[in-house]
Amino acid sequence: MNVDDLVSDFYQLVLRRNAGEPEFHQAVSEVLESLKIVLAKDPEYGEKGLVQRLCEPERQIIFRVPWVDDQGQVQVNRGFRVQFNSVLGPYKGGLRFHPSVNLGIIKFLGFEQIFKNSLTGLPIGGGKGGSDFDPKGKSELEIMRFCQSFMTELNRHIGEYTDVPAGDIGVGGREIGFLFGQYRRLNNRHESGVLTGKGLTWGGSLVRTEATGYGTVYFTQRMMEEHGESLSGAKVVVSGSGNVAIYAMQKAQQLGATVVAFSDSSGYVSTPGGVDVELLREIKEVRRGRVGEYAEQAEGAEFHAKGNVWEVACDVALPCATQNELNGDDAKMLVANGCKYVAEGANMPSTPEAVEYFRKSSINFAPGKAANAGGVATSALEMQQNATRDSWSFEYTDERLQGIMSNIFENCAKTAATYDREHDYVVGANIAGFKKVANAMLAQGII
Ligand code: NDP
Repeated sequence: MNVDDLVSDFYQLVLRRNAGEPEFHQAVSEVLESLKIVLAKDPEYGEKGLVQRLCEPERQIIFRVPWVDDQGQVQVNRGFRVQFNSVLGPYKGGLRFHPSVNLGIIKFLGFEQIFKNSLTGLPIGGGKGGSDFDPKGKSELEIMRFCQSFMTELNRHIGEYTDVPAGDIGVGGREIGFLFGQYRRLNNRHESGVLTGKGLTWGGSLVRTEATGYGTVYFTQRMMEEHGESLSGAKVVVSGSGNVAIYAMQKAQQLGATVVAFSDSSGYVSTPGGVDVELLREIKEVRRGRVGEYAEQAEGAEFHAKGNVWEVACDVALPCATQNELNGDDAKMLVANGCKYVAEGANMPSTPEAVEYFRKSSINFAPGKAANAGGVATSALEMQQNATRDSWSFEYTDERLQGIMSNIFENCAKTAATYDREHDYVVGANIAGFKKVANAMLAQGII
């Protein structure tokens, strides 16, 4: 059978088995497309059900999460944990609390996580979880009761050698605290390696909070160096204003760039003179406010309700909010306005049309599974510190993060070149991530 037919058969099976999960189909389709050149060169990877096994999670857990709101009413949410692949190490991947969460979203994120975690070079498998719980507008006590109920079920499926969740959209340091407290209470053990993103006094790692945003910028800087350019003096647009976005902005500005716009789901703020990251952190992390409040307080900043952040001209675009937030028209607008580099801080923020347009034009495009791997890599460094009951300095941990991002870049670039696809970091990331997992799966038998 030729490679196109083989891949089409694999994909049809995924569509049949996972009906109604468009984000999962999208993530699988992108990886399978990249694998065609691998299967043509090395047919062994098309045998022993390898690709079918890779697309089927090892385990999927769906559970009820009942909790009581501040009015005494019972609320019921749905919880998920998809344990996708543990061939390289314990399942590792964040928890997302957002009303849009469903099984397909968690499966797309878990699938991406397998390759991302493989690219870090660290011994971690791929998983993801979350709930359709909406933290917006909830009191702190409601968040705590929800987290406790969620962990009451999740705790029996995780463990430092089994599955190690972390944060994602809607799950930050506060939520990890409530989740860890409940895990400890249920199990009567201070098993610090069971969750990452913990507080610094109880097993957390310096740099973990900053790691995804910083890592995305380190990858961007490395990609720019490859073309004799740097972030110094560059104009950068960042979407989102959560954990990943804030620290991407901070690092980009530390490296001499000006962040000229950022956003949240209510609209975007243009900031021609740069962003006051400390003010933004105070508004978003402490007051849990909206980006419009930033524009009210910062000189020269303007809020555009429901506006499209990709309208703002820039040299570098860093989508750091959510999946499919940058479509084909946005991609055309960015390129027309002079953007030359795009690095995904979020998971799958660019639609397939946008990715295709970037790859066809002269844009250097870094896919999320490579560019945002710094978060999970630093989570693995947190696990290392927990295992040795040690805590490393900020400088040392940041140095490790920079080294890991640089290695990921080299690995993607080298792999792309091996397949005659110079500078195609999508192909490089998918193939490099895949091969390590695939080789381990072949070595471990039909499981
Ligand atoms: P946060 O919850 O801290 O922030 C999310 C940001 O994205 C908020 O500004 C939010 O705005 C915005 N956003 C969310 N959904 C939408 C939407 N539908 N439309 C527009 N804006 C939206 O999450 P993180 O920063 O942790 O995560 C952001 C992305 O990065 C996600 O794709 C996540 O999977 C990915 N990621 C995160 C990692 C981490 O370490 N945290 C690691 C690797 C990837 P609003 O407040 O208005 O909803």
